[in-house]
Amino acid sequence: MAGIRVGIDLGTTYSAIAYVDDSGSPKMIETDWGEDTTPSVVAVTDGGFIVGHEAKDLQASGSESAFSAFKRFMGGSHRYYAGDREFSPEQLSSILLKHMREVAERISGKEIESAVITCPAYFNEFQRKATKKAGEDAGLKVLDLVNEPTAASVYYGFKKGANGTIMTFDLGGGTFDITILDIEDGNIAVRATKGDSALGGKDWDAELCGIVLSKFQEETGESFGNDREFMCRMIVDSEKMKRELSSRNDAKMRISYNGCSATVAVTRDEFEEATSYLVDKTMSICRDLLSEMGMSWKDIDHVLLVGGSTRMPAIRSAIREESRTDVIIHEDTDLAVAKGAALLANAQEGRIRIRRKDQGMGIKTVSMSFKDVTPFGLGTLVTDPGFTRYINRIMIARNSPIPAKGRRTVKIQPGNYTEKLDIYTIQGDSENPLDLGNKVLNLAVAKDIENDGGGVDIDIDFEYDRSGMVKVTAFQGDRALRMETGTVPENCAWMGKPPVAEKIAGGRKFIILTVDLSGSMSGSPLKEAIREMCRFAKMIKDAEFALVAFADSSKEVSGFTSPSNILSKIESLNSVNVGGGTSCNPLNKQVYTLANEASGKGKVFVVTLTDGQWYGDDTVESSVKSLKDLKVECIGIGFGDVDRSFIRKISSSDKSALQTRSGGLGKTLSSIASDIGGSK
Ligand code: AMP
Repeated sequence: MAGIRVGIDLGTTYSAIAYVDDSGSPKMIETDWGEDTTPSVVAVTDGGFIVGHEAKDLQASGSESAFSAFKRFMGGSHRYYAGDREFSPEQLSSILLKHMREVAERISGKEIESAVITCPAYFNEFQRKATKKAGEDAGLKVLDLVNEPTAASVYYGFKKGANGTIMTFDLGGGTFDITILDIEDGNIAVRATKGDSALGGKDWDAELCGIVLSKFQEETGESFGNDREFMCRMIVDSEKMKRELSSRNDAKMRISYNGCSATVAVTRDEFEEATSYLVDKTMSICRDLLSEMGMSWKDIDHVLLVGGSTRMPAIRSAIREESRTDVIIHEDTDLAVAKGAALLANAQEGRIRIRRKDQGMGIKTVSMSFKDVTPFGLGTLVTDPGFTRYINRIMIARNSPIPAKGRRTVKIQPGNYTEKLDIYTIQGDSENPLDLGNKVLNLAVAKDIENDGGGVDIDIDFEYDRSGMVKVTAFQGDRALRMETGTVPENCAWMGKPPVAEKIAGGRKFIILTVDLSGSMSGSPLKEAIREMCRFAKMIKDAEFALVAFADSSKEVSGFTSPSNILSKIESLNSVNVGGGTSCNPLNKQVYTLANEASGKGKVFVVTLTDGQWYGDDTVESSVKSLKDLKVECIGIGFGDVDRSFIRKISSSDKSALQTRSGGLGKTLSSIASDIGGSK
């Protein structure tokens, strides 16, 4: 079997597959029903799944296990339940795609090697990822995702060879997109796109259903409970009635409920009046896009209608009235998207080579190329220069041609030894990260930064690929950093608060520095300890510090004070006398007293620095336990050759038991500072 590359229109209500035949023309692959499209409906049964017409019939008869319009919820948290089984929208899409692939392979006798799948131009990263995953889970090699209006205009460009500026107006079952593009001698360049991924034929169905039900109620006095089966039937019948109203001035529906029957008639005028607000929504999106582009309707040469819902006469007359341009009615409304996608699946390096019969009836090969844009800006979370608020700094502006790339260089300041960088990516155009139009996409953590504390530059690249999907990479010089996926907190309200206030809001912090002054620390170890503890205190501006020294005895050098006041106390350690041995456990008394004082007011940390084991005192473990009971976190730092098991004893956990050597203390304290929440 020869492999083919197909285009798949994964629609809200109908889906379709096309391929390019030997003559270079896109052709639909028929279904078992001899049709060009498959209803996008999946029914879950005990033995498996039913897809397409049979599933649609089951839904019309009120089955609770038959699902449609799941495309509207792609990439979201909406779930469908059949008995005790749960399905995501992408799982249902995958079942639909698998069915379509199997039928298409059987009917065409050709193996499907790979596919381009279309999605609304206005699909965001989550919706695109879900669409791609649905394709892959259905066993398809997904070459690209392509925007539906782009696919339709590629087909239009192929078929008509037209030139000019075109607006594709794509109103499907569940989504609405408009795209402005230029076609010149087969070169298609998308200029801009805008839309609403939750506006489509379903909204007209729901309005018509409302009209019909209230008429039935008026006539029979019957009121409706929460009868799911009945409502399912009503929605399906309303969709049929809506189609009739596209070609007739009135339509009738026979309704039976609770033993009452009536025939309800609705005129096109009534339907259009009730749904005029939906038409207005589409017009206002057109107006917004034109004005954003500094264009008017006069700049549009043709309007290309795509999507089943553009068959409604109200849509056509609204466009005529608004634009005063000739509306070109594309006769392949339902199929243009799949056919365009098939052409794109067979494109190479952005160029489609197609064979056309020339006037002399010979075969001529012509080329088409296309360029698409991104409907959303892509930004990253940064603080403003005054450190007063978080902002979404746009790295790629919306309507940039894709693929697109934006680079940001982050400067890690001298004295900050962090080896990792958190990068939040936001899709949307508003500077306010929490604006409703913005979506926090992910948290990428760039790891393995080589940092000697002297200041480092990290370059971060934000990219949209050809499918409009996002990629984030980071580099130190030419070296690509290892990227890990972090967890975006469920509640991102902190992005709307001042950065410093947020840290304080996370609770006040109290840090008890506990320093070994035994004889072996004298000289350069103590010098390093003093220098690095001062740096550490400067890194954590929003905490209070206390200082305890110990050797043969222990002493509170300072009670809790500000980071700036603690500096002179740390420097005074040179002249503090607590003996020269290591026989005292400071955690027992001085540290406990200070911790007890701060406990309940905020988060308390004890950072103990020692270069040797404390002999003659077996109370260490119980001291750490008492501190743990106060919810104090003990961080132990072994400086030099200290037995690891001892450091573990003076620490709350394995993670907080650290060891370092001469020259490495700065780095260790810096990583503690970034864990505790110091300024970077
Ligand atoms: P699509 O997603 O492009 O397949 O569009 C499907 C939508 O078009 C559904 O909401 C259909 O109800 C709607 N549709 C199809 N034919 C007609 C028609 N003749 N009149 C009104 N709406 C239609």
